[in-house]
Amino acid sequence: MSKLVIKNIGLVLSGDLDNPVLDADTIATEDGKITGIGAEKDFDQEGATVVDAKGTTVTPGLIDSHVHPVAGDWTPRQSQLNWIDSSLHGGVTTMISAGEVHYPGRAKDIVGLKALAITAQRAFDNLRPSGVKVHAGAPVIEQGMVEQDFKELAEAGVKLLGEIGLGSVKAGAEAKQMVTWARKYGIQSTIHTGGPSIPGSGLIDKDVVLEADADIIGHINGGHTALPDDQITCLCESCGRGIEIVHNGNERSALLALNCARELKQMERVILGTDGPAGSGVQPLGILRMVSMLSALGQVPAEIALCFATGNTARMRDLNCGIIEVGREADFVIMDRAQHSPAETILESIQLGDLPGVGMTIIDGVIRSERSRNTPPANTLPEVI
Ligand SMILES: [Zn+2]
Repeated sequence: MSKLVIKNIGLVLSGDLDNPVLDADTIATEDGKITGIGAEKDFDQEGATVVDAKGTTVTPGLIDSHVHPVAGDWTPRQSQLNWIDSSLHGGVTTMISAGEVHYPGRAKDIVGLKALAITAQRAFDNLRPSGVKVHAGAPVIEQGMVEQDFKELAEAGVKLLGEIGLGSVKAGAEAKQMVTWARKYGIQSTIHTGGPSIPGSGLIDKDVVLEADADIIGHINGGHTALPDDQITCLCESCGRGIEIVHNGNERSALLALNCARELKQMERVILGTDGPAGSGVQPLGILRMVSMLSALGQVPAEIALCFATGNTARMRDLNCGIIEVGREADFVIMDRAQHSPAETILESIQLGDLPGVGMTIIDGVIRSERSRNTPPANTLPEVI
């Protein structure tokens, strides 16, 4: 039995939109799950690894809702190694594949695309780069697929579809049929939104997105090239699906989508991704930067903006991480305001648009990284005692 206790916490941000700040200074975990949240005197530290947070902040591990992994911690997109480890240093502990589209020579025939998805699902299930939970095996659907294909994929362990629109299925009715089959067998779907991200992908406009009715409106702010404002507004207003905002997108459109969700009083629909590695490269701090940007320019309290990258995604993706709550997976980021940030507190610093400094990441109750090599240095660092 492995135990870990984090004590002397200054601020616990839960990731839960309905209750974003918890009244606690200690979190206890056992065998990778959260077992208690409260006051230090209430917890037995015997036999536990004890982390002194030194008055800093604990948040859930961040979730990147939109990545394109290929093999282990290598991405051919920008010829880089260890991009997932770099993201861990930006506080990301879970990643969701939106399709293994950068696989060199990717198979587009139906047998081949199913084999690739099953291989990716198995490979990332067997090996977590630096401990990061990469949910992969997201086939890019092609014309000619039939219901039996989705049944077979589901039976083989595939739980996601790659972005609809990156393959030959670009028409609304055709996409809708395949989304319905996927959903019937418990496979979640995401649709590409906006203009082509890179040569080879295509335009998916609001009519296709609405007709396809995928679970997540993938990068509603485009892969840099966003839909016109009225189409983004229409997408937010006309369905209840996930509003995914990505780093590798149009930032003005990101703020528009955020404002739409706020006006609709549906902030629980907002989730964040990077879309990395992509044309703009590996983005180790992409999720933290989105939290900070949306908080500062979108006037969202930092503790709420953080929910976009944690609890909201966990709920929408049906994951047992992303919220600090007893019984959930013990994935945490210990962070503090950056050294020399003009703000007095971490929340103020994020609202000013600064990035916090990551002092430690923990996945399933195991310390995975200490002082981040990528964020600005945290004002105060936690310590293992
Ligand atoms: Zn896309």
